[in-house]
Amino acid sequence: MKTIIVGAGIAGLSAARHLKARGLEVLVVEASPFIGGRVRSAAVGDSLVGIGATWIHHPNGNPIAMLCDEFGLDRAKFDLSNLSAFQQLHDKTRLDEASSTLVRTIEDDFWEHFNPEGAQLGESAADLISCYFDALPHDIAHLRARALILNALETELCAPAELIGASNFVAQTQPYDGGDEIIAGGYSALVDCIATGVALRLSWPVARMSQTSSCVEVIGIDGTVETAAYVIVTVPLGVLKANTIRFEPTPPESIGFAIDKIGFGVFEKVVLQFKERWWTTQSTPNGMHFLSDTTFRYWLDISHLARCPTLVAHVAGPPAENLSSTPDMRVSDALTALHAHFDVVPPSTAAFATTWQADPWTRGGYSRLPPGVDGRLIDDLAQPFGRVVLAGEHTSRWRYGYVDGAMESGVRAAKQIIGLAAG
Ligand SMILES: Cc1cc2nc3c(=O)[nH]c(=O)nc-3n(C[C@H](O)[C@H](O)[C@H](O)COP(=O)(O)OP(=O)(O)OC[C@H]3O[C@@H](n4cnc5c(N)ncnc54)[C@H](O)[C@@H]3O)c2cc1C
Repeated sequence: MKTIIVGAGIAGLSAARHLKARGLEVLVVEASPFIGGRVRSAAVGDSLVGIGATWIHHPNGNPIAMLCDEFGLDRAKFDLSNLSAFQQLHDKTRLDEASSTLVRTIEDDFWEHFNPEGAQLGESAADLISCYFDALPHDIAHLRARALILNALETELCAPAELIGASNFVAQTQPYDGGDEIIAGGYSALVDCIATGVALRLSWPVARMSQTSSCVEVIGIDGTVETAAYVIVTVPLGVLKANTIRFEPTPPESIGFAIDKIGFGVFEKVVLQFKERWWTTQSTPNGMHFLSDTTFRYWLDISHLARCPTLVAHVAGPPAENLSSTPDMRVSDALTALHAHFDVVPPSTAAFATTWQADPWTRGGYSRLPPGVDGRLIDDLAQPFGRVVLAGEHTSRWRYGYVDGAMESGVRAAKQIIGLAAG
């Protein structure tokens, strides 16, 4: 019994590993020349920098953390909440300590009172933010705190707050906890471990698949055919939305409905390296928010990961709509944003900008539930249709958007295939 897995990201490779460990024949086919999908590193100067997934969010009890331990990959803390201590305004001034502390206190109070469990299905993150702030004074400290919270939420969930359903926050606090960690050697080191010994056909984009009662034919855009008893499709939600792959017969209506309704945001990064770490005199904060309406308002300092002074702008949600089209223009715009916030910005020594949305095999960042969309639609996506089953982060009921959700979905799909084969 052979299984073809479409997509060599974490979901596809995890499915392959599970089936292979049970002695089953597997072939992973992949459109791009790389494995890893949205886990990818790029050479920037002399460093390898993660340009997709970088953090293990909520590592306690998280299967990705356990897998790292199994493969002997070290993990280290990276506190993503330690950003607001280093705010910059639009007028080249930094918040003084008293103002910073006040904003931080309001922010902490917001999160303490944040109760998405009590929210209606139709409510958005914007509604929850308004509900809290509308009852408070509209002074500068509250406006700053509101801007900061909005910036963090829209960046993390890669969508405008109006398009982020309150239910996302219920889902994403389960079932693990802890802060944020990085993997020594980056996520790519983990991908390499998972992929060991897996049969791969790279640079082979799938255009169509046709199933009969006894097998599935998978047809590449070059017209060549691979045949298997079962298929697991792990292409991103954006690729499913674009109908890049034609399914024969078409999947059930419930699957088409879920593909249409579940959201898929935009998330791009711009990496800038410098000769010196010129932007801070403080040693601890891990980044900065710009409290202005620039496209580049969320910056992380990953110098210790890159072993070189390095800033990464995360551009997601509404600011992503203003991004220029080419990587060179994105780099130049990011530098302009730095110039608008600091008196002196030295020239960068190396740079890189992602184009995940323009990538035909990704078409965006990751999935989210818009207001009014029930998370049970994700369960519909995970139902087999005939000999085919979908996997990928967008099919993980509680951890969509995360690497561990992708991994868990691959294992779930592999188990479903084993169940189908057993009759
Ligand atoms: C910028 C960015 C930052 C992120 N940061 C984090 C983070 O810090 N922590 C975290 O947990 N998550 C993060 N994520 C999300 C995380 O990367 C994803 O949830 C996860 O990697 C998805 O894995 P997957 O296997 O479901 O999909 P993918 O990794 O996208 O794999 C799908 C594969 O299918 C292939 N494919 C597509 N179309 C075809 C076709 N027609 N034929 C054959 N192959 C095809 C693609 O090339 C790809 O390799 C981030 C994502 C982005 C974009």
